[in-house]
Amino acid sequence: MATEQAAITRATFDEVILPIYAPAEFIPVKGKGSRVWDQQGNEYVDFAGGIAVTALGHCHPALVDALKSQGETLWHTSNVFTNEPALKLGRKLVASTFAERVVFMNSGTEANETAFKLARYYASTRHSPYKTKIIAFNNAFHGRSFFTVSVGGQAKYSDGFGPKPADIIHVPFNDLHAVKAVMDDHTCAVVVEPIQGEGGVLAATPEFLKGLRELCDEHQALLVFDEVQSGMGRTGSLFAYQYFGVTPDILTSAKALGGGFPVSVVLTTEEIASAFHVGSHGSTYGGNPLACAVAGAAFDIINTPEVLGGVSTRRERFVKHLKNIDAEFDVFSDVRGMGLLIGAELKPQYKGRARDFLHAAAHEGVMVLNAGPDVVRFAPSLVVESADIDEGMARFAAAVKKIVG
Ligand SMILES: *Cc1c(COP(=O)(O)O)cnc(C)c1O
Repeated sequence: MATEQAAITRATFDEVILPIYAPAEFIPVKGKGSRVWDQQGNEYVDFAGGIAVTALGHCHPALVDALKSQGETLWHTSNVFTNEPALKLGRKLVASTFAERVVFMNSGTEANETAFKLARYYASTRHSPYKTKIIAFNNAFHGRSFFTVSVGGQAKYSDGFGPKPADIIHVPFNDLHAVKAVMDDHTCAVVVEPIQGEGGVLAATPEFLKGLRELCDEHQALLVFDEVQSGMGRTGSLFAYQYFGVTPDILTSAKALGGGFPVSVVLTTEEIASAFHVGSHGSTYGGNPLACAVAGAAFDIINTPEVLGGVSTRRERFVKHLKNIDAEFDVFSDVRGMGLLIGAELKPQYKGRARDFLHAAAHEGVMVLNAGPDVVRFAPSLVVESADIDEGMARFAAAVKKIVG
């Protein structure tokens, strides 16, 4: 009884949750557009976007409507039965991308797990059981299941859990020669983020992605784009592959897809999809009607010229502010990324301190992210208003001033 009545505070986290996160000291309780309020009523400008998820801001009326009306209609069927919201969303994705087939999952991890299993299965059933090599990149991030974390190139996330899934090889990102050196006919897939998000907001070069496409074609390997973070309008194109003009064989998306409701998707061709049959893979919740109803509403808004076209002007506004901050405080060695996935790399004297900038920013009333120890990352709503950008960046400037001080 006593615990039920005790106030919920940040200390409760340390009492009841596994110590795998170090959340901020404040607890958000409410959000609207690009603003968030905490338990004490303090207000924040949100440039973190729930890690590139809340692409239409918090509690967008169209998403709230979709959630409410689906919530009063049908929540869950499992995949023993299909459902209308999933089929509608599937049709939209097929109509707007290279995909001929899609399958829904619940998180970026699960979409990638599905993609990697599909790539392996396709290669082993259509080519040879020995065609299992996966080429991936240093500092990549593909999720936290044991397969996806092993394909991701970061030992700090994948070590310590016993023997890893085999035949995965990592080479430097944006280094086509390094890929060529390990590519062969035993390669089943090359897995790449068109923009490395967690790895430091690093965009691939068009030549690199084109080169990967050619190498995959030469060796009958599948090109897999992990667009969990870069997808759904983040770059100003619906998917980054469309901007680069390089079409993958399999593409995964999640984060912004549900605008805050957990849902993910794997896109592929009919030919590749046909390697799977009933029972090859599955998920109890994947394509859940509630998730797909919200994602469908988000899709209809994001996939419009107004929203996609507005990304570059918003980016310019952010970059202008960051350049001004740098001119005043001399803190950034690089401002990079694409669209509204922006990374500001810290100068050598501030190396390793990205999280200090996060905390200082929160203290000034603006939520930002890091991408590794040296990069401050901004992944705001795609419809963030100019006034919110200006106010948030003024607060961020105040935080920088405190640190550089
Ligand atoms: C966030 C992310 C994932 C993992 O998604 P979850 O929903 O956290 O499982 C995978 N790949 C990329 C590129 C990501 O940014």
